[in-house]
Amino acid sequence: MTDKLTKAYNAEQFRNQGHQLVDFLADYLAAMQKDSSDQFKAIQFTDPKTSLKNWEAHASEPFNGEWIDLFKSFFQHSVLLHHPHYMGHQISPPLPATALAGFLSDFLNNGMGVYEMGVVSSTLEKVVTNEVARVIGYDEKAGGILTSGGTLGNLTALLCARSVKASEAVWSKGNKKQLALMVSDQAHYCVDKAVRIMGWGEAGIILVPTNEKFQMRTELLDTYYQQAIQEDKEVIAVVGSACSTSTGSFDDLNVIADFCEQRNLWFHIDGAHGGGIVFSEKYRSILSGIERADSSILDFHKMLITPAITTALTFKEEKNSFRTFALKAEYLWNEDGDPEWFNYAKRTFECTKLMMSIKIYSTLKLHGTTVWDQYVTTVMDLGQLFGEMIKTHESFELVTMPECNIVCFRWNPKKLEDDALVNTINDAIRQQLLEEGKFYIVKTMLHGRLWLRTTLTNPFTTAKHLNDLLVNIQTIGEQQLSARTQLTP
Ligand SMILES: *Cc1c(COP(=O)(O)O)cnc(C)c1O
Repeated sequence: MTDKLTKAYNAEQFRNQGHQLVDFLADYLAAMQKDSSDQFKAIQFTDPKTSLKNWEAHASEPFNGEWIDLFKSFFQHSVLLHHPHYMGHQISPPLPATALAGFLSDFLNNGMGVYEMGVVSSTLEKVVTNEVARVIGYDEKAGGILTSGGTLGNLTALLCARSVKASEAVWSKGNKKQLALMVSDQAHYCVDKAVRIMGWGEAGIILVPTNEKFQMRTELLDTYYQQAIQEDKEVIAVVGSACSTSTGSFDDLNVIADFCEQRNLWFHIDGAHGGGIVFSEKYRSILSGIERADSSILDFHKMLITPAITTALTFKEEKNSFRTFALKAEYLWNEDGDPEWFNYAKRTFECTKLMMSIKIYSTLKLHGTTVWDQYVTTVMDLGQLFGEMIKTHESFELVTMPECNIVCFRWNPKKLEDDALVNTINDAIRQQLLEEGKFYIVKTMLHGRLWLRTTLTNPFTTAKHLNDLLVNIQTIGEQQLSARTQLTP
């Protein structure tokens, strides 16, 4: 072996470096659970231009520091999801065991494009998806697969819906009819993307309006359906949001299920964010009706403390999943036709795939589903608590009482009616928070109004941290407001 390769594969060096990195991360994790978390920023934001300049400079310098320094420089410019002030996007701080499983997956590199390249991960994929199906409340006909993310999960489910419900054999012959699906106007944009990727164009997505809580107005489903039929569209599916991304609103899944049964449509649930709530004894009733869906997705990296990206796509009837990419469906259905559950590339887009299932299985085996129950319940409780704090605070407005751990609100102490001004001030608040880095929260636009948006995804976050955030916002807001009102003659 060449000198460079010998050095790069050195086992003793790997041992030392691995120990150093784990020690470093363990110290960080310990600090996040104490008051010393204040010594860290939740986000170290750098604008793209400066960031590129810095890293180009870094790349051009010779490397002569300690090995661990390289990894520390990645860390120092990263978002710290285990920080109690991390309340930004929906991804959760992964459990250490799942991150170690991810490390093992990367090191083993068992790609599972074919069964024999990933015997453990392929088999465990069946074990963990069966567990998800059981907890959802499906019977033994159900089953699922893992996909790299919810975006791909939704597309795969909708391709399956098309294979099962469309009157033409689109996968082999293309489509002549205008196919369409129905979804609320608050759905994640990846549903729209999936429709366009399938070649249905803009006409293929029928947006059903939402109510004041941003839930689908299911009483309009039939009207929109009839109109689509008039326009010569072939509607094949309804997608329920559980929950929507911006406000965390849950559609009424039972009403959608009734409608789909009546009209013989595929019922898919986008549970990328909220699907994990099935594991919470206290809150799972919010997903009532999920067991009636033909398919649903849930992201383990959102509500189930697993590294990104790890998504379960579950089918009420597993046999449908084999139809998604099949050219000759018939052969699958004869009595002795074995669809080969273990050859996952038959049912997914991906060929080589990360060993996602070992991350999920590690949690199941080491901690049991109870850890998911406790996590989901904790962050859902935090959502309720924060909702109450904002509702009773005279300087803040709540978009609607939160249904999960996503909370949207804005600072408006004088109950100003001038939306443009309130938008500008809240935008400036969020920008300043981002640049200071003490807290990480995001923002969203809803019907022309800008809202601050938090996802309470960290079980280390307490009422005190939430209160500190409100105090921080209040301070920045007052500066912003006085600067702006002084400018006005
Ligand atoms: C996050 C999210 C997605 C996208 O999932 P990825 O795993 O990021 O691809 C889809 N739908 C909803 C409702 C989401 O919240």
